[in-house]
Amino acid sequence: MVSSIKSSVGTQRKVVTAIPGPNSQALHERRKATVSAGLTVGFPVYIARAEGAILVDVDDNHLLDLGSGIAVTGIGHAVPALVDAVSQQVANFTHTCFMVTPYESYVEVCEELAALTPGTFAKTSALFNSGAEAIENAVKIARLATGRPAIVVFEHAYHGRTNLTMALTAKNMPYKDRFGPFAPEIYRVPMSYPYRDGLSGADAATLAINIIESDVGAKNVAALLIEPIQGEGGFVVPAEGFLPALSKWTTEHGVVFIADEIQSGFCRTGDWFAVNHEGVVPDLVATAKGLAGGMPLAAVTGRAELMNAVHEGGLGGTYGGNPVAAVAALATINTLRDNNLVARARVLGDIMLASLRSLQRDVAIIGDVRGRGAMVAIELVEPGTKTPNAAATKAIVGYCQQHGVIALTCGTYGNVIRLLPPLIISDEQLNDGLSVLGAAVRSVQ
Ligand SMILES: *Cc1c(COP(=O)(O)O)cnc(C)c1O
Repeated sequence: MVSSIKSSVGTQRKVVTAIPGPNSQALHERRKATVSAGLTVGFPVYIARAEGAILVDVDDNHLLDLGSGIAVTGIGHAVPALVDAVSQQVANFTHTCFMVTPYESYVEVCEELAALTPGTFAKTSALFNSGAEAIENAVKIARLATGRPAIVVFEHAYHGRTNLTMALTAKNMPYKDRFGPFAPEIYRVPMSYPYRDGLSGADAATLAINIIESDVGAKNVAALLIEPIQGEGGFVVPAEGFLPALSKWTTEHGVVFIADEIQSGFCRTGDWFAVNHEGVVPDLVATAKGLAGGMPLAAVTGRAELMNAVHEGGLGGTYGGNPVAAVAALATINTLRDNNLVARARVLGDIMLASLRSLQRDVAIIGDVRGRGAMVAIELVEPGTKTPNAAATKAIVGYCQQHGVIALTCGTYGNVIRLLPPLIISDEQLNDGLSVLGAAVRSVQ
């Protein structure tokens, strides 16, 4: 059994060289000759193996993972159930193309998605390789099903890097700059951002809806696409009532409500999906990241009458729903369910919010602490103002790296540090990571 190959990764953070160490530095030099310079590195250490919440680099530094590869490895690294499922599937067959000769695991994933996503109506799914591909397909489906052209998106939104999803994404640098021209019929409206707009959810929704109605016209809108908690845009949690008001408006106007749950889905926020916190039921849900424990898999799931409106052959792709990725998703979903990681995410959230709020009281550069479940962030500002403090953000993350803690940044202004620990992280490991982050914040204060 593959899972019986026990590595000795352990559970402790341990830094034994300068970061990056000599072996990572050598690899980094080597990469420059053949890897495009357009790909940057957040943390230039090269990983050799990983287990649970610990990554081991090629210099034997043991790093504590508070990023989960951007909310992907929610169940942790090298989970035996996933390792076994994937290994067995690789030995059985790796590919047939679901559109040529299908297989059961694809159907099983769609059954799970239908059961787990909100809404009691009949649902079908289509599987893809990446989040961006799922979003592209959700837009295709919404346009076809409604016969309308316009797509409404939000300020600070992130939906991917393909041509259509660049157009849907808000931030120019680095995602869009000089990569245009972009797809037409995309309309951007203000996002509820309580720390910065000071509006109630209802008022923020009225503002957005008024702009849609005056600038686009409800009858022209195929879909409203929104991350229920924004990811790359800064972990912006909309004010209570914002999402329900938008959802109500879409229902009244025959607009497809698409929830981009790619970062926030699969137990991350302490519920299976972030929309569940306010009882919002989307028409279509896009998922990826946390769905398959690191294997590339994405999905669009939603109302059968929308999903099935597409003509035969209208959806697909060579690899979408690949059998290895599909069994990884089944193992991931079972692991989330069997270990009640949805409840664990809430506990992790309580620990992180309490620690960061107490830190906020001691320092002047944390403007906001926010998040839900194990999706938590701090927004860094110049003391006494709300002016974004990207320099402090960079310095804090750099300090964490030097001490063997992986923490990611985000935000339109590059001034947010987000925590996305694997949901299997222990209290001890999380508190260790938080104490490093606390020391980091105090060090730049
Ligand atoms: C990561 C992400 C995407 C894009 O997913 P890829 O797999 O990188 O294409 C889209 N939406 C959100 C909210 C994301 O976090």
